[in-house]
Amino acid sequence: MKPKRAKIYKRHMSLYKSAFGFREPYQIIVDGTFAAIAHKCAIDLNALLPPILGGEIRLMHTPCTLTELRLLGPQLSPATASLRALERRHCPHAAQPLQASECIAQVVGDENKHRYCVATQDADLKRVLRNIPGVPLLYITNSAVMLEGPSSTSFEAAKKVELAKTLPQSHESTTLSTATAASSDTPVQPVHKRKRVKGPNPLSMKKKKKGEGKAGDKKKKKQTKPKEKEKSKPDAVTEGFE
Ligand SMILES: [Zn+2]
Repeated sequence: MKPKRAKIYKRHMSLYKSAFGFREPYQIIVDGTFAAIAHKCAIDLNALLPPILGGEIRLMHTPCTLTELRLLGPQLSPATASLRALERRHCPHAAQPLQASECIAQVVGDENKHRYCVATQDADLKRVLRNIPGVPLLYITNSAVMLEGPSSTSFEAAKKVELAKTLPQSHESTTLSTATAASSDTPVQPVHKRKRVKGPNPLSMKKKKKGEGKAGDKKKKKQTKPKEKEKSKPDAVTEGFE
């Protein structure tokens, strides 16, 4: 795979992962049309698909896709065998099998909540799946497997998801509004008041020191001159706090 193409596929998959929650191993539903071409071109899906999707994969078929391929005749029996070898994904059509395209469309559903990728050459099925947000499509052209770019439906859905991520969640908005209300109710003044209470004390201590030093500390000065500086400071501090 060319580096440029690998970069494009990586970008496609990062959209599927971030917007639609795709995770390894990527589940890939393979239909009969894809299995037949893959067999004809001797494509080893287990080797080729992981680098394209950028991770581990799980290849699977549905009973309806297998039934349809088997009914197409013995010339497709090698392809049928390769499809049968894949993991069987249950579908609710055991009693009355549907066309493979209808079966896959039903298994994927309106939201692709199980996060399937679909490997198909069926143009009609691809058209249907492009209208469902977040369905990676794989197809074969010129003996090479390709990952189709996200459809416009997928892009639009991804935009909405990304936008929703930037908005506050319901519990976050409640917390925010509570916090805003609380901050508006309680002015900032009390905090300043506390600071002011703390502030004046050291200042008043200094003033007292000067005032007391001139007027009231004569007794202390008279006592011992060398210890005067050492004693005057702690005395003043204790007076200030008391
Ligand atoms: Zn089915």
